[in-house]
Order: sequence, then C-alpha cells, then structure tokens
Amino acid sequence: MNKNLLYRSIPKVDVLLENEGIQNAIEEHGRENVMEIIREEMDALRAFIGICDDEEAALGKIESLSEQILKQVEKANTPNMRMVINGTGTILHTNLGRAPISQEHMAKLANIVTGYSNLEYNLEEGRRGERYSHFEKLLCKLTGAEAAMAVNNNAAAVMLILSSMAKGGEVIVSRGELVEIGGKFRIPDVMEQSGATLVEVGTTNKTHYSDYEEAITEETKALLKVHTSNYRIVGFTDTVTVGDLHPLAKEHDLPLIEDLGSGVLIDLSKYGLTYEPTVQDSLRNGADVVCFSGDKLLGGPQAGIIVGKKKYIDMMKKNQLTRALRIDKFTATALELVLQEYLSEEKAVQNIPTLRMINEKKEEVEQRAKTLRRMLRSAKLAADFGLEDCESQIGGGSLPLERIPSVAVTIKPHNISVPKLEEAMRHLEVPIIPRTANDTIYLDVRTIESRWFKEIVRMMGELI
Ligand SMILES: *Cc1c(COP(=O)(O)O)cnc(C)c1O
Repeated sequence: MNKNLLYRSIPKVDVLLENEGIQNAIEEHGRENVMEIIREEMDALRAFIGICDDEEAALGKIESLSEQILKQVEKANTPNMRMVINGTGTILHTNLGRAPISQEHMAKLANIVTGYSNLEYNLEEGRRGERYSHFEKLLCKLTGAEAAMAVNNNAAAVMLILSSMAKGGEVIVSRGELVEIGGKFRIPDVMEQSGATLVEVGTTNKTHYSDYEEAITEETKALLKVHTSNYRIVGFTDTVTVGDLHPLAKEHDLPLIEDLGSGVLIDLSKYGLTYEPTVQDSLRNGADVVCFSGDKLLGGPQAGIIVGKKKYIDMMKKNQLTRALRIDKFTATALELVLQEYLSEEKAVQNIPTLRMINEKKEEVEQRAKTLRRMLRSAKLAADFGLEDCESQIGGGSLPLERIPSVAVTIKPHNISVPKLEEAMRHLEVPIIPRTANDTIYLDVRTIESRWFKEIVRMMGELI
C-alpha cells in the first residue's frame, strides 16, 4: 500500500473550503473556528494513515473528511449541557439537576434577565436597592420570620450563618446530626470553614437535653440543630427537638439555629408523605435562624434560603462572605416566582414541578403510562412494551425512606441488548435516562412530562 499516494489524496484546504457545507459552517460559526477544526481533522487523518495498514479504511476516511469536519463543527457549537428526560422516577435527582423549573416560570425569567432589571434598584425611591428585597417580604409572610435572605446554596447558608454568629466561638451540635451531604461534602467540614468550633455532644443514636446543657461554656455562641434529611436512624434513638432546646437557649441567651436541609413550606403529610418539619414549625418552635435549600422540596432554583430574627439576618447581610456567596439575578428572579406560588397552596402544588410530581396520583401516572405505551406500540418498533407498578423516590437527600407508588413503561428490545439500548438512549439528541433491571428498561412515567411522549417515541424509533 502506497502511503504517499494516500497522503497526496487528502483534499487540500482550498478544495475543502469550496465545499458548500463548510462554506455555510464558516458563515455561521466564523472562519477561525472552522479553520481550526479543519486543521485538527487533517492532522488526525494524517496520523491515522501513518499507523493504518488498511487501505480501504484510509480511503474511507479521506472520502468522508469534509463530513467529519462538519460533524466536529456541529459538536463544538452544541452545548454539552442539555435537557435530559428523567425516566428514573427519582424526583429530585441530584445528578440530573435536582428541582426542574416550570416552563411558565422560565418564560417570565427570560423576559426579565434578557434585559436590564431592578435587581438592586429601588424603583419607588429611585436609588440603590437590595437584591433580597424581591422575595424577602414574601418569605417573611410565608414563614412568619422577621427577615430573610438567600445565598448560593444551603451549604453556603450554613457557613454564612456560623461565620456571622459564631466565628471564633463554639457551636454545640449533636453527633447524630453530623451528616455528609453528598459528593464527599460533610456538614462538619463546611461548618469548620466558617471559623466556628464544633462541639459535638451525645452519641450517634441518642442525644439528650442534658448533653447540650453540660456542653455550654463561656465560649458557646450558638446551639445548632441539623435536620438529618438524607438518612434515618431507626430503633433505639433519642433526639432533642428545637422546641425542647428553646428554653435552654433562652436561659443562656444563645441563638438557636436549625439547618432544615430540604425545608418545606407546606405540610407534605396532607399529600400522603411522611411529615417533614416545615420552616414555619421550626420558627414557631423557637429557632432564631433557619436555613434550607431552594432546589430540594421547595422546588425552586439552587439557593440557600435563610430566615429568622432581623438582628441576625442583618449581621449576615453585612458579612463580607455574603459578597462571595450571593445569588445572581437568575436565582433572585426564579426564587420570587416560585415563592409567589406558595401564596396559595393549591397553586404551589399545581405549578411547581417538584410538588406536582410528588402529588400526582398513581392512577393519573398509570393513565399517562398507558398513553405512552400505546404511542410506542403504534410505532411498531422491535420491542415489547408493557406496564409495571414501580416506586418513585423523592431523592436529593430528602425523605430517604419515602416510596411513592408509580407506574413504569417497560421496554424489552428484540434485536439489541438492554445495556446497549440503555447506552444508546443516553446518546440521543435529548438523552433518556431510564432505570434498568431484570433485563428490562423501565421508564417511570411520574418524572416524565407528557409533552415529551411524542419525542420519546420518535427518538426510540431511531434505536429499535
Ligand atoms: C442538602 C443539605 C445541605 C446542603 O444543601 P445544598 O443546597 O445542596 O448546598 C445542607 N444541610 C442539610 C441538612 C442538607 O440536607
């Protein structure tokens, strides 16, 4: 095989530049951008010929060079971050972006952030305003707190609270509440970053009032409760609630802080879930400061929401760390939109995707699953489609024991293995992330909005 001949048959750059597709690509994405990819692909082709001893393969690659270039241009100009279809049934899937934001809220948000906004401008008075002002009153009204603010996420909220209220001093916390919040991040380590020293009391399964009482010293700056949202200790256990600790905090004039983790504003037990302490309850029971995530059960954007006594919130607003941890205009806008829904519980449950998914009755999921199965069957694909009862999870480290009865569409492909199909589904234009078990693909319909059904059928048609 004559390698020189092969090298010489690689089209020259000027020839490639005459290709209509490449000309269009230059028009659309800029000359430099495309030229760089042309050079890279030509180098890769030369390298391939250098090590290849299959003439057919080399000729094939030479033949399809312009095609390959266009493919790479397309790839380089397509965002890697994309929408995926969540067929896992895990509602707050940490790896899939936790709480989805509704299309209605997003449309309103786009309207606001694509231009200038009053993010830090007081329109009443024509002077500088505060970025928390858009949702602070709302949060106070919903939770009964005196003041409120928000930072980047709940881990940041914990750090800011301790840095503002306990830096250089001690904070008493129960050993049973020193949680790891995922991705190897541990609440105690985050807390230490604040400059406060943790004083751990009690044991993993039992902590008593007297444990806190005995640990209070001159150095104590606060008592902290952490809601163990992502795990449960069951059996021989004892914990002291915020309500129990309130008199102790009062007696020693210490602030009582609670990290609620998920932090819900409505009583989820009404919707068939286990009771999860609400932010209102925590404040009513005597917490001075409460923090919680914006994108767990609240169903909003990623944020760490802090509510409580005005004198403490003011300290946090003035803390230099706040500048590093502050939310941006996207979050401030989305938070207000989502919180407004909570003015009516009915509206919140309808209009916030996370709550809507949690609240959807099994019968409704089943109806939708039947629709999806019917659509898939009508497409005459090489697979068996069935329905199977399954259980959705809340996820996101919230209500770890909770299982919600749900229905999945099952797929048993005829001509491709389940692992291969699962992999191919991940590589679709809109990737579909299913659950697999027993040599079957499961799509839990609870976490799949009906507006995606048509697209799912079309895309599955490409694979089976
Ligand atoms: C999830 C969680 C956090 C961290 O919240 P992020 O918003 O993910 O930063 C902190 N504390 C508790 C108890 C949690 O459950």
